[in-house]
Amino acid sequence: MKTKILFKYKIHRILLAITAFFITAAFCHGAETIPGESAVTGYNKWKSIGQSAADNAFAAMKKTGARPEKGNIIVLTNAGYAEINGASTMGALDGLAETTGALRGNNTLLEIHSSPWTKLWFAVYDKRSGLCSYMEINPSAKAEGIFDIQALEQINIDHLSSHAEEYKAKFDKKVFGGNEFRIISIVNAVAEGSPSYAVRAFEFHDHYCPGVTSGIMMAGYLKKNFPPVSGSDYFVQAIQPWCKEDALMVLLNATPGKGGYSVSYPTDADLENLLPWAKDASTVAYRKKKDGKAWEGIVLAFNWAADTQCPETGNGILDKVCADLWYLKRIERPEEFVSVVKSFELPEGVSPKDWAAPGVDYMGKIGLTPE
Ligand SMILES: [Zn+2]
Repeated sequence: MKTKILFKYKIHRILLAITAFFITAAFCHGAETIPGESAVTGYNKWKSIGQSAADNAFAAMKKTGARPEKGNIIVLTNAGYAEINGASTMGALDGLAETTGALRGNNTLLEIHSSPWTKLWFAVYDKRSGLCSYMEINPSAKAEGIFDIQALEQINIDHLSSHAEEYKAKFDKKVFGGNEFRIISIVNAVAEGSPSYAVRAFEFHDHYCPGVTSGIMMAGYLKKNFPPVSGSDYFVQAIQPWCKEDALMVLLNATPGKGGYSVSYPTDADLENLLPWAKDASTVAYRKKKDGKAWEGIVLAFNWAADTQCPETGNGILDKVCADLWYLKRIERPEEFVSVVKSFELPEGVSPKDWAAPGVDYMGKIGLTPE
């Protein structure tokens, strides 16, 4: 028995040493590799680091008596977005997948959007125990101190709800390096069986908040009740932009880069000028009419639930995640929350883009403000 424990301990040490070697190599030699070769060696390096991070997470969980198993794990990471010394960290995704059994196709390997200069982090979640191992790479690491942060917490919603105060203190201390809300909101939604289209929106938006829910539901509403004529796309115009824009862009593939999305940020005075019945107007969706030439639009509002039955625990993260999960149960019923404030047609020969040009009073043209 003792030799077995010793053996396990040694294996753990060896894994850590291997991780240290690869990370040191990544930091020391990233700039020296020749183009062409760097992509391959970079891939192998980061794949090994991903594997080692997953091994590390499993070892930490096993120490508590949990039994993490390949295929029963959800992984979240910003690998592939975060860069270290200007080089890609994308290979870590394949290492994490290989060791944990987490996969893109079944919503268990999640690529969380971040800037290249954000620290690289891995969160490995065991669905059975609710344990989450969080690791953050120290960009200036040499052989020692591979991870800036290594934490293990039980973050399934039931456990958090019954330990609200304890976890408020932990969140205040940034136990997951400031990524607490991001990880807890997404992991719990995925564990509850969130549809894959919603997960796409969480990934791009980099967290799951009630605001992104409204965009997911608006996209669902449009698909069912205002479908585009075949072969054409929507043009979306935000009247009151918030988190929903990221979901609409991802789920409708309406993006500013392709001439399909327009956002300007209204002032308080602009919003006060909206007619009383248009106060909640937040998004305009345009589609081509059946003739394929003229355009028509609908103005949507999102009607927030008066009561999500979530207790106010004083733990802001927890309260938001509770609301998230309440909306998640209703995500396939957008008609309960999305309403049409106004329907209208564009004059012949006018496209929605014309109404998104600088200086154009689009709210007035749509008829949302006094004449
Ligand atoms: Zn948000």
